[in-house]
Amino acid sequence: MKHNILIRGGHVIDPSQNLSAVRDVAVSGDRIQNIDETIDPADAEYTVDARGLYVVPGLIDLHAHVYPHSPFGLEPDPLCAAGGVTTILDTGTAGSYQFDAFRRNYIDTAVPEVLGLVNLSCIGLLCGQLGELLDRRYADPEGVVRTIREHPDVAVGVKIRAGKHLIGEGRQGWDNFHDAVRAARESGTWLMIHIGECPMPVPEMFEHLQPGDCITHCFKGGSTRILDENDRLYDAVREAAARGIIFDVGHGAGSFEWETVEAAVEHGFEPTTISTDLHVKNIRGPVYDMPTTMSKFLKLGFSLEKVIELSTLRPAQALGRDHEIGTLKAGTRADIALLERREGRFQFTDSYGHHRTGTELLSAALTIRNGNILPGGGSQHARRLAEETA
Ligand SMILES: [Zn+2]
Repeated sequence: MKHNILIRGGHVIDPSQNLSAVRDVAVSGDRIQNIDETIDPADAEYTVDARGLYVVPGLIDLHAHVYPHSPFGLEPDPLCAAGGVTTILDTGTAGSYQFDAFRRNYIDTAVPEVLGLVNLSCIGLLCGQLGELLDRRYADPEGVVRTIREHPDVAVGVKIRAGKHLIGEGRQGWDNFHDAVRAARESGTWLMIHIGECPMPVPEMFEHLQPGDCITHCFKGGSTRILDENDRLYDAVREAAARGIIFDVGHGAGSFEWETVEAAVEHGFEPTTISTDLHVKNIRGPVYDMPTTMSKFLKLGFSLEKVIELSTLRPAQALGRDHEIGTLKAGTRADIALLERREGRFQFTDSYGHHRTGTELLSAALTIRNGNILPGGGSQHARRLAEETA
């Protein structure tokens, strides 16, 4: 046998190779072996009939909470097959006090690849509902830097939730913000800032950010938006995006507003990365999973190729790992998602209870992680297709 798995006849979309066409994909061990117009099934140990499905790099969720010792945290494994997600970035659920345990109990054992941002607050989101940095004594930039140095393979950056109810107002808010920036610089990594009810105006934040730093919840409504009071995109946002600041969706339970995203898109703004901010309080809606979040961008008029790019190549680049993930290039790790695109009328709800009706819904049909076909997800679909056409 030359290949362990052959994925036949699917529509392959791999923005890292500018590829969008029907192709066969062969997997050998934990690597993608090759992509071709046809690959002989006699050479394969196991064949997946992917006709009618999209074959894309394993999805990368750049914003989720998968440290279950926090009241926000989900178990990482079920998200993988259910959502076609093979790499999950946990965004600061753990702080310096918990990261060792997070690594030992979840990161090292999870089915998906789990990476983490370290919260500036030493207690992370252990009781995040109380405001993790309202007491300045919890700000621990030295602990963040030490944690990243101890876990350089999985602790990849710094997180702060910059809401005034979380970090304090005025001087205290700025002091926490500056501590987070300093931790990112001293650790040689990057900073993700959660915006929403911020103690400082959004444009003023950019003066302290470098290319590679990230604003998440970029389509949040309310008092902190990337739009001014006249619904126009701030010039500072446009300039920041142009110089490489990452604008991440981070949908969440309170951070995606149809009116905001529609106005921003109308002004030509495009997020850098699509992500869910999945946690305990939104997995049963309105977020559900990565493919549902991606489908909302189809509704906004983005092409499927673009939506795949914002969910694979772009987050891989944000993580500095596009040589290994977010791609189907031969020789890279065999993390692959098979997606189904259903047509119909689907109600898409934002974080504020407002609805839009879309005509296309993506779902995960099959997920391959590290060269293994995972149980769960919609793999029944692939089997049914094969039987119907046998
Ligand atoms: Zn979050």
